[in-house]
Amino acid sequence: MYLYNSATHKKELFRTHTPGRVEMYTCGPTVYHFAHIGNLRSYIMEDVLEKYLRYEGYDVNRVMNITDVGHLSGDSDDGEDKMLLGARREHKTVMEIAKFYTDAFFEDCRKLNIKTPDTVQPATGLIPEFITMIEGLLDKGYAYVAGGNVYFDTSKLQRYHIFFDHDEEDLQVGVREGVEEDVNKRNKNDFVLWFTKSKFEDQALKWDSPWGVGYPGWHIECSAISLKYNGEYLDLHCGGIDNAFPHHTNEIAQSESYLGHPWCPQWFHVHHLNTPEGKMSKSKGKTLTVPTLEEEGYDPLAYRFFCLQSHYRKALVFTWENLDNAAGAYAKLIARVAALKPEDGETDAAVVAEYRQRFMKAMSADLNTSLGVTALYDALKAKTNDATRLAILADYDSVLSLSLLEKAAQKRAEEAKAAASATVSSGVTVTGEGDPEIDALVLQRAQAKKAKNFAEADRIRDELKMKGIELTDVSGGVVWKRI
Ligand code: AMP
Ligand code: ZN
Repeated sequence: MYLYNSATHKKELFRTHTPGRVEMYTCGPTVYHFAHIGNLRSYIMEDVLEKYLRYEGYDVNRVMNITDVGHLSGDSDDGEDKMLLGARREHKTVMEIAKFYTDAFFEDCRKLNIKTPDTVQPATGLIPEFITMIEGLLDKGYAYVAGGNVYFDTSKLQRYHIFFDHDEEDLQVGVREGVEEDVNKRNKNDFVLWFTKSKFEDQALKWDSPWGVGYPGWHIECSAISLKYNGEYLDLHCGGIDNAFPHHTNEIAQSESYLGHPWCPQWFHVHHLNTPEGKMSKSKGKTLTVPTLEEEGYDPLAYRFFCLQSHYRKALVFTWENLDNAAGAYAKLIARVAALKPEDGETDAAVVAEYRQRFMKAMSADLNTSLGVTALYDALKAKTNDATRLAILADYDSVLSLSLLEKAAQKRAEEAKAAASATVSSGVTVTGEGDPEIDALVLQRAQAKKAKNFAEADRIRDELKMKGIELTDVSGGVVWKRI
């Protein structure tokens, strides 16, 4: 496939260190709050990428960290510890906060059909490995101890920033307005590998280290976790675009200095989901989450569909209206799949193979998921029988993960149940879920309407509404459903 590489600013033919095998790493969530739907946009697109690589036949080893220590509210070692902020906000311990939000994250992922990576490693579970790596960096002269902390020395690198053409001013990360400059840093881009002299008196999680009791900086976790589970040569590193700098830049600095050779050639960054008001941020408190979408009556997979309709390298604006449009299109798509008859013909393997090529053409062009979605509509119109159409859709959905066949089967079953339970009386057909009490009320209302007793008809409609029943008048009868 051709994939845009943030490291070279070009679309490149995807290659791996070991043919046929992809070592893939994803920056995981900082578990001090619910993931917002912006964070989840990144995880949806990374999930599609992983599944697409498997679809192309790669054996993928995907690793993800869980940041449960060391991430400060400023990405460059300034501000407060995010986990401590969460613990204080909720009067819980840091580990309770970490467990609660890690579970919540995977529950969101389950609802969005995001597969769990092969390895998920919380940072707090690998402290000895971080210490080994920091010791190695000190031995090789890439790090120094100052004021009790250990810092990475960026002046020792041949090249520091690689993702964007930052100008010098942008790189002054330690001297942002309102942020206290860390006087221990020899160079303004140096970053903390290990904190011992913390400004946070009440830092909950601390470990012994050769430099005293303390805790790791944020960036070291991804370098060390990837090294342990992906090995020395990583093929593909993913994250949201805000991770590119300084986090990914610093990961490269650490890993390449430690290993003494190039580390990861291919970088995949998902652009942000924004609201019309601007950036979505966990730290702002009230954000849009998967449970919020559900409370508003949306199927989380409608949100996945919404994300797939646009390209991962374009910022995406979330509005309820945009989600409504996606949810409507998703429901129609399911209805069209439900209208296909699985018993119509035998699956034609040659046609499925031909359509597989079409899908690959779309998706291998820098993961063009909107064309991938278009391919679903083409499959519905394929000149073949329904069994083959369904096989093509199932094949595409192994990557897109919209549960199309499951939802269509569910819809077919509901429709069959409703049809079987239709009650016909005085020329009125009542179709619902086979509840005689409700059917009787619906019939009474229909008769009241016939007799032009509209007040009574409205009264019965209201009574049914109170019971959570919604009515739709159709020709020759009434259809009801529970809402
Ligand atoms: P965090 O939990 O803050 O460490 O972020 C988890 C992931 O979500 C990272 O890969 C971020 O780059 C990504 N991310 C953060 N905000 C957004 C956003 N608004 N849209 C898409 N991805 C985001
Ligand atoms: Zn990371």
